[in-house]
Order: sequence, then structure tokens, then C-alpha cells
Amino acid sequence: MSALEFTSIADIEGIYNGLHTTYRSGKLFPLDTRRKQLYQLARLAQDNLSAIEAALHVDLGKPPLEAAGEVASIVRNSLQAAEQLEEWAAPVKPTLQGPMSSWDAAICPVPKGVVLIIAPWNYPMSLSFSPLIGAIAAGCPAVLKPSEHTPTCATLIAQLVSQYLDPEAYIVVNGAVVETTTLLTHRWDHIFFTGGGNIGRIVAAAAGEKLTPLTLELGGKNPVIVAEDCDVELAAKRILWAKTQNAGQLCVTADHVFVVRSVAPAFYEALLSAYRRFFPKSPFDPEVQWSKIVSLAHYARIKDLLDRTKGTVIAGGEMDVDTRQIAPTIVAEVPVDDSLMEEEIFGPILPVLEVNRIEEAIKHISMQSSPLAIYAFTHSEDLKHQLMAKTRSGAVVYNDVFTQLRVQGLPFGGSGESGYGTYFGKASFDTFSHYRNVVNIPPSAEPMFLSRYRPYSEDAYAA
Ligand code: NAD
Repeated sequence: MSALEFTSIADIEGIYNGLHTTYRSGKLFPLDTRRKQLYQLARLAQDNLSAIEAALHVDLGKPPLEAAGEVASIVRNSLQAAEQLEEWAAPVKPTLQGPMSSWDAAICPVPKGVVLIIAPWNYPMSLSFSPLIGAIAAGCPAVLKPSEHTPTCATLIAQLVSQYLDPEAYIVVNGAVVETTTLLTHRWDHIFFTGGGNIGRIVAAAAGEKLTPLTLELGGKNPVIVAEDCDVELAAKRILWAKTQNAGQLCVTADHVFVVRSVAPAFYEALLSAYRRFFPKSPFDPEVQWSKIVSLAHYARIKDLLDRTKGTVIAGGEMDVDTRQIAPTIVAEVPVDDSLMEEEIFGPILPVLEVNRIEEAIKHISMQSSPLAIYAFTHSEDLKHQLMAKTRSGAVVYNDVFTQLRVQGLPFGGSGESGYGTYFGKASFDTFSHYRNVVNIPPSAEPMFLSRYRPYSEDAYAA
């Protein structure tokens, strides 16, 4: 793992002032300038696929296929923004009635200003660059602060941004708490934070002090319901696939499963069968390309949750502190007050809770903090209706896990404790844009104003 060179605290003020100079120069206002930068970002990802794959492997043990997915999303989203920029940035013309119909009024998306993006470690490339795509598209100069927990990626991000993007407009600040705290003492025009709720609260407090608009992309415990009417084999395969992406270190993965007791034996059997197919060898065999837990602290946190479970481990459970690997682990018959239900697991442990009736699961979910997503394997319209009516979450997804992110045009974000604000596609552009009203009142409007000028008279009211 490479040592991460932190940005000097003394340089942060100069970086901030420099970005303001760029903003005030108006150089990012033309759509052509922004489009060129978006193409540059796509090029950055495309040209450096192997370097990015290697960095993700060093920091997270990510297999090339998963790393390529991160890179592909950066390329796809940059190109989409470049191609749709004209449409997104077009002024919206309200319909004006009566004597105002000849006036000129428009709602014009303009860059909000100089923005700060704070990224997490779990998808260090895509979760750094995806918000940056929105900032570039909207015409905002930006500081990008990658996570210090993935130092090889953070080093590469700094190098590639300075090499491919306009250095007067997009700057990477590397560092940890002190550097981020220093960044937060400045007045940004938008802060985009992705990470856990505890740090999210610190960022929200700093933003609140300066009345800075904020996007919080946080986490939560995403439940999955396995209903009686579903194809349990398909459900098991899809849930296990999502849980094993990036060793479960994924904000929208399945956190835990509620299965109706009558189909629980078949579901466990299907999970074990999928497990054997996905992992014909030990997950720790280098050929399997199993990801590692990002840090010893997270490894110890997940181990502690598993050590204290009252459920029964039916697959996995092995750990290797030297490689920081935890095998994909399925835990059956987990009670609702279990250690595995205390916090977002963010690791490869899949607890399965059994319920007699689906309503028990819905009741439990409705009493918890609002997660990023609720998943349900079902075709029952009644169950779908109950979920919409009785629970809250950023998204509801039926019959798969995590794949909602592939659906173009869906704004991504949480609700309640999983965050606020959205991004991806046009939502990213909107996040970093201010919709500015521009109105021209023509001289020809004068006759309708005659009564507004002093001295006021009763006649004027009568007219
Ligand atoms: P984190 O909150 O620990 O760190 C996120 C960022 O905050 C890092 O860049 C870090 O340097 C910075 N930071 C750390 N301490 C800080 C402080 N005191 N003040 C200001 N900034 C500080 O999050 P993480 O561990 O990197 O990510 C895991 C969490 O993020 C999980 O809860 C996960 O669900 C969530 N997440 C959410 C999304 C989403 O899109 N909603 C995506 C990925 C991860």
C-alpha cells in the first residue's frame, strides 16, 4: 500500500481562493468548456483502466471484473453528461398569461459556485468521480477529497485529475480528519458528502453554520424480504451475488434478509447451493479473487458483530487477520435483537431472520431508520402496496438487489437517516446548479404600471 501524501494545510486557503478566481472569471460557464472536461474525464478513466484496477486491487483486493465496473460507470456517466448537457442546461420558459405574455422570463440553471466533494473508500473511484461529473456539467470548480483509507486510489486520483482536468478548476485535496476539517472551515457553495451518518452529522453542522447547501449520501441497513410467492432459488442467487460484491462493503447491498418461515428451509438450501457454485474453492484461495476488508478497524468491527451473534453460521465464518479477509458468511435464524442487527454490517455477513408472516417484517422495517433501499422478492401487488404505504427508504426494488443503479434516469439518494439530496444523470447536474430566474420587463409594459406610481390615488384602485 502506498503512503498517501497529504495536502499541506497551509495550501488549502490558496486552493480555495484560486477556485473562486476561476469561478469569477466565468471560464466554466460556456457549455463547450464543460463538455471538453467531461470528455477528458471519460478519457482519464478509459486510458488508465489498468492503473485503476491495480490501485483498487492494492487497497481493497477488488477483482478486475468489479474494478472494470467502477471504471465503466465513470466513462458512461461522463459521456452521458457531455451528450445531454445542452438539453439539461436549456432555460425553462414559464407560460406567461395575459398582458405578461410578451415579457421575457426564464429559469436558467447556472453554476452554484465553488463546491466541495468528500468521498468514501468503498468505491473510491466511482464515488469520487460520479459527483465530480455533476460539478463539471454544472460549471462548478471543485475540490475533491478522496478517502485516506484507500491511499493508493487517492494518490492515483490526485495524479490523474491534475494530468487530465483543468488544474485551475478541479483540485484534489488529500488528507484525513485535520485536512477535511480545515476544508470545512471555508464557505462552499455546495458540499457533497458520501460516507457514514456519524461523519455526515459533522459535515452537516459545518455546512449549517455557513448556510451551505448540502447533499448527504449516507448508509443504512437495507432489508430484503423473501416472500412465499417468490422463486427462492433466484432470490438466493441474486442476494448472495449482491452481498459478495466488494466483500459486502457496498452501501446499497442486502444488509439482512427476512424470510417467511414456510419457505425458509428451501431458501437456506438455495443459498447454500449458490454459495457452493460461487465459491467452489476457499474464498481465501488467491484464484477466487475475494476482496479484503478495508482496514483492521473495520475487520475487528465486523468480527465482533459475528462473534456475538445468537444465530447459526451455516456457511463461511472463516477469517484471516493477516489478509484482512472475511469469508462470505450466512447466518441462519437470527433474532431481531441480535448483534448483527445493531448497525449497518458493511461486510460479507448475511443474517437471515425468519418471520411467520410478511407483516412482521414490514412492521419491523417500518420501525427502523429509513435505509437507502428496501428489497422484496415477490410478485404480490398487496405486498408492494404495503411496502409503499407503510415504510420509508430511498428506493424500493423488487426481485433484485443493487441493480437499480444500472437504470438510467433514476436519481440516487437516501431518505431520513440514509441522507438527503440525489445525483446521477440530470439529478447530478441539478444538484450543482442554481435555477436562477431571469426576467426582462419590457418598456411596452408601462401602461399596466400606471397605477403603481406615487402619488397613490383612489382612482387608481378603481381602475
Ligand atoms: P466515513 O464517513 O468514515 O468517511 C467519509 C469521508 O469523510 C472520508 O473522505 C473521510 O476522510 C471523511 N472524514 C472522516 N472523518 C471526518 C471528520 N471528522 N470530519 C470531516 N470529514 C471526515 O465513511 P466511509 O467509512 O468512507 O464509508 C462508509 C459509509 O458510507 C457507510 O455507511 C456506507 O453506507 C456509506 N456510503 C454511502 C454511499 C451512498 O451513496 N449513499 C456510498 C458509499 C458509502
